[in-house]
Amino acid sequence: MAPFPGSGLAKGLAVTLRTMTKKTVTAQYPDVQPELPPRTRGVIGLFEENCTVCMLCARECPDWCIYIDSHKETVPAATPGGRERSRNVLDRFAIDFSLCMYCGICIEVCPFDALFWSPEFEYAETDIRDLTHERDKLREWMWTVPEPPALDARAEEPKEVGAARKAADKLAAEQAAAQEAQPAEAPAAPGAPTAPGGPAAPSSPTTPGAPTAPGGPAAPSSPTTPGAPTAPGGPAAPSSPTTPGGPAAPDGPAAPGGTAPTDTPPEGGTA
Ligand code: SF4
Ligand code: SF4
Repeated sequence: MAPFPGSGLAKGLAVTLRTMTKKTVTAQYPDVQPELPPRTRGVIGLFEENCTVCMLCARECPDWCIYIDSHKETVPAATPGGRERSRNVLDRFAIDFSLCMYCGICIEVCPFDALFWSPEFEYAETDIRDLTHERDKLREWMWTVPEPPALDARAEEPKEVGAARKAADKLAAEQAAAQEAQPAEAPAAPGAPTAPGGPAAPSSPTTPGAPTAPGGPAAPSSPTTPGAPTAPGGPAAPSSPTTPGGPAAPDGPAAPGGTAPTDTPPEGGTA
């Protein structure tokens, strides 16, 4: 049976109308960044502090696109009479992403959690050799790795988290104890500074008061000794009559004080 004239046009218009009313799924990349699932396999990040250069990832990689160089270092014994140890030091860690097929085996087999998937995918290069990412580049990718999903509410706490929590609690308790101990010592500390100030004044006459004399309190104490007049600069002149006061001179022990007056008058004079 011959098709009705114009039926093809009607079908085409119907398809067009159906499509126009549907929600668009086209992402306007790069103007709009796509929302990728957190487990997207974009690029591999290396947390090299965790890497022990065990070479498992390089051996298990089906494409042989992981390159690792290292050397051994001798670690001295921690205790006298102990045994020296050797450890591997990472010299080079590179992944050739022009060969990588993003299977994730290297990440699965790493026993020390040194490799992670990052959802970053914008690392196209015009030169294929630039797709070999060295350790510095792999470390930069590490900072783009999303946080792992939260644990189930009833899940058992991971051992490392529990150990870290205990260590943090212990440290906090030690700091709190130290802070409580400080206030007890604090009163003694402020007393010390005052001791040299106030008490020092009375003591200054009997001892080399010169150093304490500069302190205001020294002046009142000085009246008992020849040092008194010396403290106030202006009155120093009137005090000089007292200094001649033979009694001061005989105070042999006050000799240091006697020297003090000689120093202080010039200051008073300048003042
Ligand atoms: S994802 Fe697979 S192919 Fe790529 S480096 Fe890891 S093991 Fe090799
Ligand atoms: S498997 Fe992990 S720890 Fe071992 S060499 Fe590879 S990244 Fe380093």
